[in-house]
Amino acid sequence: EDHSSGSADVHKDKLLGGLLAAGFDEGSCLSRYQSASYRKETPQKPSAYLISKLRSYEALHKRCGPHTESYKKTLDALKSGHYSGSSDCNYVVWISFSGLGNRILTLASAFLYALLTNRVLLVDPGIDMPDLFCEPFPEASWFLPADFDLKNQFSSLDQKSPHCYGKMLKNNSISNLGEHGVPSYVFLHLVHDYDDQDKLFFCEQDQTFLQKTPWLIMKTDNYFVPSLFLIPSFEQELSKLFPNKETVFHFLGRYLLHPTNTVWGLITRYYKAYLANADERIGVQIRVFDAGTGPFQHVLDQILACTIKENLLPEINKQESISITSGTPKSKAVLMTSLSSGYFEKVRDMYWEHPTVTGEVIGIYQPSHEEYQQTEKPMHNHRALAEMYLLSLTDVLVTSSWSTFGYVAQSLGGLRPWILYKPENQTAPDPPCRRALSMEPCFHAPPFYDCKAKTGIDTGALVPHVIHCEDMSWGLKLV
Ligand code: GDP
Repeated sequence: EDHSSGSADVHKDKLLGGLLAAGFDEGSCLSRYQSASYRKETPQKPSAYLISKLRSYEALHKRCGPHTESYKKTLDALKSGHYSGSSDCNYVVWISFSGLGNRILTLASAFLYALLTNRVLLVDPGIDMPDLFCEPFPEASWFLPADFDLKNQFSSLDQKSPHCYGKMLKNNSISNLGEHGVPSYVFLHLVHDYDDQDKLFFCEQDQTFLQKTPWLIMKTDNYFVPSLFLIPSFEQELSKLFPNKETVFHFLGRYLLHPTNTVWGLITRYYKAYLANADERIGVQIRVFDAGTGPFQHVLDQILACTIKENLLPEINKQESISITSGTPKSKAVLMTSLSSGYFEKVRDMYWEHPTVTGEVIGIYQPSHEEYQQTEKPMHNHRALAEMYLLSLTDVLVTSSWSTFGYVAQSLGGLRPWILYKPENQTAPDPPCRRALSMEPCFHAPPFYDCKAKTGIDTGALVPHVIHCEDMSWGLKLV
């Protein structure tokens, strides 16, 4: 069945080159097998090693998932607080935390960490995760059961908790555990405000210790994948999984994140109504971190300067009232996303009131304008996910600096966006934007520590594939 405009799309590989497992009930999650028909064939193919790793992960998840014998056994260790010997199933529990873009990036990070450490990923449903995403693994849920023992403590787990890894290091409580002692659970505080001890998570030696613990409870708002590439014991596995390093989120995101039918309805109706029939689709993601509501003139100036200078959108012709070009004009559909509607209205009116110098016809569309961030409101996040996903279906993408919302769109779409530089002092930066070096998200709060030498070091200068981000000089990203 073909769901997009072109008939050439009929034979699209709906399992994404083997990334997805066959055999799911299609109706319960239409996006899983339909998404391929909305996308251009990607030049990126998942490695055979990644595919086999995912299939063995799925088997592990089925064997160890919620309510299995192994799960109950490992849960006993948590209940009694005593743990010795090894468990055949170990877990990493992801706590639902922060904005939706951040959550999507941390989910992929936690999953990759689970793959690397042979752990099972369990997802705290939080307030809306099951309404947003389908189950990604066959025959076993990824959601943490509601009766999970530590669940009511999630909101109070912090850097001062005795089970926090950084706190354990500060208290010397690890050496006090004795030779065979292993804590039944460890809380990993990997939130942007984490301290030097928490950051030792990224050292090989600390990983060796953490390996013994059956339960890791992880709270993070950062895409920490780039720093996993700097841990020697993970290096080889990672290069086998991802021969092309800029495809980590691209594949993990497409593997894990399948919008529920409700969200898929929002995506597909919008796509068919406004985007499908254009010759070219352009996404413009506006995220303004300045105080005040906007819209700001300098942001509008910057959007136009970037899109026109980079030839993404044509200039308008202020001399003529009508364009006299022969033939059928090319059409461009511009999908704008922003919390405010001001930018969209101005750009739309500009292309309505004047012809373009090229004769191209420009349609400007914006699905929603929520005015302010409302992280806890369900329909708000349905829209946010739909918009990230719609941006990922465009051919050309412009994103805002520092925004995880934009990172999700670019990586899912396999797009290297033009990034709008962050404005300083209420002025449009010059140049207004630059092309990203890779489609990967940026890790905003990486550690700068040499675990062996025990000194500070520039972790963005150690290997060619981990560099500083285009939009945040201290961030790290894979290229
Ligand atoms: P970030 O703050 O840009 O890194 O992105 P997050 O997704 O983590 O958090 C921002 C939140 O604000 C989103 O989850 C949305 O709830 C909301 N938001 C920001 N920009 C938009 C937008 O363009 N459209 C919609 N619908 N929501 C947005």
